[in-house]
Amino acid sequence: MFWIDDLWKFGISAFVGTLTVFVPLLDTRTEALDPIPVVVTIPILKDLAEQVGGPYVRVTSLLSGYENEHTYSPKPSDLIAVRKARLLFEIGLGLEVWISSLVRNAGSQALRVVTTSQGVELIQDDADTHEHPHTGKHTTDPEGNPHIWLDPANALIMLRHITDALIEVDPSHEAKFKANEAAYRERLRQLQKELSDRTQRLPDRRFIAHHSAWPYLAKRFDFHIVGTIHLQAGTEPSALHLQSLIEKIRKEHIRVIASEIQLSQRLPELLSRETTARVVVLTTMPGGVPGTETYLDMLRYNVLQLVGALETT
Ligand SMILES: [Zn+2]
Repeated sequence: MFWIDDLWKFGISAFVGTLTVFVPLLDTRTEALDPIPVVVTIPILKDLAEQVGGPYVRVTSLLSGYENEHTYSPKPSDLIAVRKARLLFEIGLGLEVWISSLVRNAGSQALRVVTTSQGVELIQDDADTHEHPHTGKHTTDPEGNPHIWLDPANALIMLRHITDALIEVDPSHEAKFKANEAAYRERLRQLQKELSDRTQRLPDRRFIAHHSAWPYLAKRFDFHIVGTIHLQAGTEPSALHLQSLIEKIRKEHIRVIASEIQLSQRLPELLSRETTARVVVLTTMPGGVPGTETYLDMLRYNVLQLVGALETT
């Protein structure tokens, strides 16, 4: 134990003096090497931030992929994560109704909130529902449907916001972030082309949606959403609405109901039993279904599930 000898030799005060000089130096050094602490609301944003940021970010997603994004209630650990974060990536558009109070309660001066839906061309929900399906507000609300990430072209806009924010916080890795963004952009473009090829020759493109999550995906890949079970997120549809869906499915020979793993399967299964339409289970979030851990895997999974069901009708 030579250091005890040293301690005796130099005396306690000398030892403490050495420590106090040494510790701040160590601190500064660790800070410079630390990845940027990032919090995101939903897993797609975690995947995109990690694609661009690589080892230079440490990303926490508040939702894991199994929850309903509209009715989520934050945990105490979420508040801690937001308090420690330098960047927070959200979708916006009223999707994460629970995030503003979380940010307010965290009270962090260093935190920057980035709304990744900025600049996305929005799709308005059907006016005949009279109410905004996600917030309960009237459809005159300028905000559009918030499920923008289900169109890969929108994911690229989100990716750009994320890249810009990371560069702003950590300019020393600008070249790396830009190269990562370009590489991911190319992978996404290739997948979009592959999936567009698969959807081109479908004889029937119609499906009933579980909740209004799919207008962006439908527009991109030319699927036709002909009915929606939950017109308003988090509320039960009326018996009248269910009956009209059953009649529509029978009369128009609609063969596919696209349910979502994050919601109860009870109503899609009920509609399926009452008609001959089959249920395919999709996921609005990466990780919701095994094999959909990344955004690219989730996109491929959802489109191929729909294609598979529609091809066999
Ligand atoms: Zn939703």
